[in-house]
Amino acid sequence: MPKATHLECSICKIRYSSSAINNLCTCGGPLLVAYDLDGIRSRWLRREVSNGPSSMWRYAPVLPAAAASIVTLGEGWTPLIQTKRLGKRIGADALWVKDEGLNPTASFKARGLSCAVSMCGELGIKR
Ligand SMILES: [Zn+2]
Repeated sequence: MPKATHLECSICKIRYSSSAINNLCTCGGPLLVAYDLDGIRSRWLRREVSNGPSSMWRYAPVLPAAAASIVTLGEGWTPLIQTKRLGKRIGADALWVKDEGLNPTASFKARGLSCAVSMCGELGIKR
């Protein structure tokens, strides 16, 4: 059962099939994945969240790829680090930064690429 209900243009709101290969909307707007959040909420148990893998795929129910399609090098689950000196300098009592440099590509982009490559496999995209 597909988790995504459809893709929707972030600009003009035109809907596209989530099981077909799409890039941008005809208006040039990026497509956002829409989910049946009420259905997911009723099936996804809290303990499944806390017992999930230590990666971005812990949240697989709200990511488009099916479990069998997931391609991962362990993206996500990067630490939050408190930056006391910087926080003090800018007047923030509790300033935290996410260390995305611990992702496999040393970039936050690893998350999106894991999802994109997984979806390429699922949709049969070879290149
Ligand atoms: Zn559009």
